[in-house]
Amino acid sequence: MNYCPKCGNDKIKEVGGIEIAYELSVFTGKMLKKEKEGSTLWWKYVCKCGYESSVHAD
Ligand SMILES: [Zn+2]
Repeated sequence: MNYCPKCGNDKIKEVGGIEIAYELSVFTGKMLKKEKEGSTLWWKYVCKCGYESSVHAD
């Protein structure tokens, strides 16, 4: 999708959620490692005019 189907604006945003892998020490409770990139779980497109696409999910 490159533009808003409601108002034609091409400055739409993609909003989503990602899954991040991490390693946590159970003993100290400290975060040892956290990946910077994760896999996308869901996403949708939103526009300033109020339009929101349906949520896509993997
Ligand atoms: Zn719009």
